[in-house]
Amino acid sequence: MLRLISRRAVVLLVLSLLFFGITKESTETIAGKVVSVSDGDTVTLLIDGQQEKIRLEGIDCPEKGQAFGRRAKQFTSDMVFGKMVSLKRLKKDRYGRTLGWIQVDGEILNIELIRAGYAWHYKESSSPVLSLLEKEARQKRKGLWIEDNPLTPWNYRKLPRNKHMLIGSYNKQETVPSKTPGDKQGLIFRGNVKSHKFHKPGCLSYTCKNCIKEFSSIDEAISAGYEPCRKCIP
Ligand SMILES: [Zn+2]
Repeated sequence: MLRLISRRAVVLLVLSLLFFGITKESTETIAGKVVSVSDGDTVTLLIDGQQEKIRLEGIDCPEKGQAFGRRAKQFTSDMVFGKMVSLKRLKKDRYGRTLGWIQVDGEILNIELIRAGYAWHYKESSSPVLSLLEKEARQKRKGLWIEDNPLTPWNYRKLPRNKHMLIGSYNKQETVPSKTPGDKQGLIFRGNVKSHKFHKPGCLSYTCKNCIKEFSSIDEAISAGYEPCRKCIP
């Protein structure tokens, strides 16, 4: 119990350090009203009569077409839409959006999304707090962690456009409900080591001569540089 309390205290301390700017980056804190939510991790603030698009620092929510994309957006809306918030402004990203931390009612949105299982932490940001909270959310199977190997948004964005919706709905229909104890989620995808296409079970090409590379998830296959087969659409 003592260990739990002290860990929580450390987390809270690090969070407030993050937010109140005792970090290496030059930052400022300003107030704004959230006037729109485009995604779990992207909102627009009205600051001194001007709109500013904010991309939440350190995290990545599932995209709209992905499983849990809409729920992540809903979570963000419930927490901040129409409210006055504090923005800790960092730098601009390459799309001209402001990277930042958003705080409302004493809670930091970036952190709460991770805690609720609606976002991945960015490995590049290397925030130990985000990484710790993500690990906890995974262990408790919160939000998108109900799946064993959810497709990461950065790999989802690498897919050809027309495959987006198909893969999103595949994730929703087939991976989420198959969660019974003992069901070791036996889906194995097979990749063709020559063409670098991968197939799901049932595809005519699944047993082809060069289809010898096995993957336990779509994410794993895409990370390895394989493309989904156009016929079976894994
Ligand atoms: Zn196939």
